[in-house]
Amino acid sequence: MSAPVKRVEIKAQTRLRTLLKDYFLDLDAAARDSERRVAWCTSVGPCEILTAMGFDVFFPENHGAMLGARKVSHKHIPRAVGAGYCAESCSYMTSDIGAALANYSPLTEAYGIAGPPKPDLLAYSTNQCREVQDWWSFFGRRHDAMVVGVCPPAHLGEVTPEHVAFVRWQLMQIVEKIESRFNLKLDMDRLKEVVALSSRASALWRDVLDTAQSKPAPLTFFDGLIQMAPVIVMRGRQEAIDYYETLLEEMKERVRDSVGAVPKEQWRLYWEGMPVWPKIRELSGKFFDLNAVIAASTYCNSWAFEDYDGGDPLEWMAKTSIEIFINRDENTKQAFLCEMFDRFDIDGAIFHNARTCPNNTNSRFGMAQRLREARGMPVLVVDGDLSDGRFFSTAQSMTNIEAFIEQLEEGAR
Ligand code: SF4
Repeated sequence: MSAPVKRVEIKAQTRLRTLLKDYFLDLDAAARDSERRVAWCTSVGPCEILTAMGFDVFFPENHGAMLGARKVSHKHIPRAVGAGYCAESCSYMTSDIGAALANYSPLTEAYGIAGPPKPDLLAYSTNQCREVQDWWSFFGRRHDAMVVGVCPPAHLGEVTPEHVAFVRWQLMQIVEKIESRFNLKLDMDRLKEVVALSSRASALWRDVLDTAQSKPAPLTFFDGLIQMAPVIVMRGRQEAIDYYETLLEEMKERVRDSVGAVPKEQWRLYWEGMPVWPKIRELSGKFFDLNAVIAASTYCNSWAFEDYDGGDPLEWMAKTSIEIFINRDENTKQAFLCEMFDRFDIDGAIFHNARTCPNNTNSRFGMAQRLREARGMPVLVVDGDLSDGRFFSTAQSMTNIEAFIEQLEEGAR
């Protein structure tokens, strides 16, 4: 009998754990230091402005994902429902609000701190959804903190100079509000520095993800979900750059040595939509056992921005924030997916129909069907949710995934 195939651990992981621990402990210290200020920001929100103005930045969506990954969202969502939030609205939002009402945070078990740092300011962009506006408003009221936001034009096909100019103007509006409230002045040279750091981290992250074009792929979507933390929470900081340089070197070494994340890689898949955080381990194990690597995903690529050329930093922020996949129209999204399928030599695509996030679910208006017909590519739609495990049937989903791989096998015969 042959020995079971083992997963090869990513060595940089140890450093990542320390990096994240330091980040959260420092945020906790910032919230208790009267000389420092904390801002909360959406994941592709105006964090570079906040960093350049001296705020320490916390990202609540990351906290929502932690609640999901710890499989506790369903315990806290009912409290948010009791406070008037619909159980079928964003489960990052409802679990985060519910956990706050219960005075619970996974940060306590992970890092020994009470929970998210108390904000002085909350900043959002509705480039991903309007839910963040209501989510941030809840915490603005709770902490009696200022809430500012950008509401860019949505569902864009072509991104025009007029769109960019409009969003740049909105960014200037929030800068003026922050300057006035906190008696600060935005230093444009400092903003340029922060944007350059942000862009560098993003470019390195893109390079890391692109190594999965190799066969076997050195990392999977599931690795990406862990490894993406710095490009979200430390964008604009040197630490993120240092980390991704190390990780990229390790991935290149894997490519040179033909070390695959799924050693017996046979099928190369694409994941479209949100992760199923409470079932990451189970899903990762299932695909591993089926010799299928999820070589690319829309989600992990959401933080792979265009390079900054040293020009107007606000224009770069405006442009990158509206060019993201989630803010585009159906045709642009479909073209992006086709390009990704080609670049990563994908055999089949999985669409996650996330119950509480219609904004980042793309199987509801025929796209999966259109791609199946246009490319002759097998496509599977999995019903579930990003954080609320009650919307995901493990038995049914695993059966569907097995059948999907059998379909690929039959097609290859
Ligand atoms: S994009 Fe979806 S998961 Fe993210 S905050 Fe909006 S509704 Fe929630």
